[in-house]
Amino acid sequence: MNPLLLRQGRVAGRRQDVAIRDGRIHRIGPSLDAAGYETLDVTDRLVLPGFVESHIHPDKAFIADRTEGLRAGGPSAQTLVAALKKAFSVDDIYGRARRVLELAVRHGCTTMRAHVEVDGYVELRGVEALRRLQADFAGVLDLQLIAFAQEGVFTDGVTQDLLREALKSGLPWLGGCPYMDRDQRAHIDWCFETAQAFGVPLDFHADSSDDPALLTCDYIAEQTIARGMQGRVTLGHLCMLDVLEPAERARVVEKLREARIHVISLPATELHVKGRADVRRTWRGVTRLGELRAAGVNVALSTNNIVNPFTPYGHPDLLRQALVAAMAAHLGNLDQLAWLLELVTTNPARAIGLDGYGLGEGCRADLVVLDARDPAQAITEQAEKLFVIKDGRVVARNTRTSELLRR
Ligand SMILES: [Zn+2]
Repeated sequence: MNPLLLRQGRVAGRRQDVAIRDGRIHRIGPSLDAAGYETLDVTDRLVLPGFVESHIHPDKAFIADRTEGLRAGGPSAQTLVAALKKAFSVDDIYGRARRVLELAVRHGCTTMRAHVEVDGYVELRGVEALRRLQADFAGVLDLQLIAFAQEGVFTDGVTQDLLREALKSGLPWLGGCPYMDRDQRAHIDWCFETAQAFGVPLDFHADSSDDPALLTCDYIAEQTIARGMQGRVTLGHLCMLDVLEPAERARVVEKLREARIHVISLPATELHVKGRADVRRTWRGVTRLGELRAAGVNVALSTNNIVNPFTPYGHPDLLRQALVAAMAAHLGNLDQLAWLLELVTTNPARAIGLDGYGLGEGCRADLVVLDARDPAQAITEQAEKLFVIKDGRVVARNTRTSELLRR
């Protein structure tokens, strides 16, 4: 691998060179000696650590054409997908998931943590397909896998054993989905006990409805503290925060902070799925990103679904999710646009426990170079990802051309 020098990019708000050797950032400085380096001129282009997709479902991507979408009075997205899962083969999952990974790399993603469904319908076929992809994308995209209980753990007699088998085979995370079981607390307790038995962290799909009576994140926070798992529990969705009274919300957010819970918002799916029965003031379901961040909770954004009934227009482009979040969560002021890209870079990296991630000397050279001077311009213009660099190697290069024609 040749040493690589990025020339004069915008790094932390200033024009700097980034020297890369042996897959790591070797030096950062205003004008480095280029001798011995292959150079890339990125003058005034925004250099960021690679995008981190922290919550995504490649195993059920690209199936919108196999089923009807959501309709008033029709089946839920869970029901539509459950009916299709039984027919998923390993090769089918592999092919669709591969397309997700290729698109994600093209859009600047260097690390992805994916939920893999494990249940009586699909058994361990998703695990097998995603494991193959993990090996095939080595050096291009780091893929972490979560053994995910999408259908609940008390709905059949096999899912608990299958999840244990997936963990035993080496999957490093357990993913729960309390609202799929009648007794949410029993589901949460089972997940904590199983995670502790295997010594793995937890990630829950939690509080995705608008009924405060079903709130679970405060109980999850209590359990996290009681079991000494602070910093090792992540919650996706948390749509319900948006319907709590402000004082109650502040109490819940404080508990999340105390338990050092990571929160991952999935705005594209919320905007498509939520509030469909509302007749006025349609609830959009995106969690309170600004409030969570201001309270000191680690918050991230992720893509979640790709071209399926949950999000028919889902696309693994985190710069797009940043714009969707800006629009959905009132985060358009310049100071907010300036920090929004942390929600697809450093914050998810923290949530999934990445070592050596970032734009500092000694960090892994996982980078994306955007055709913009700063985050606000990158989000607003949905700037092209000119170079995607993984372990110091360029793994994707993109250009956009346009011509304004005079009449
Ligand atoms: Zn999800």
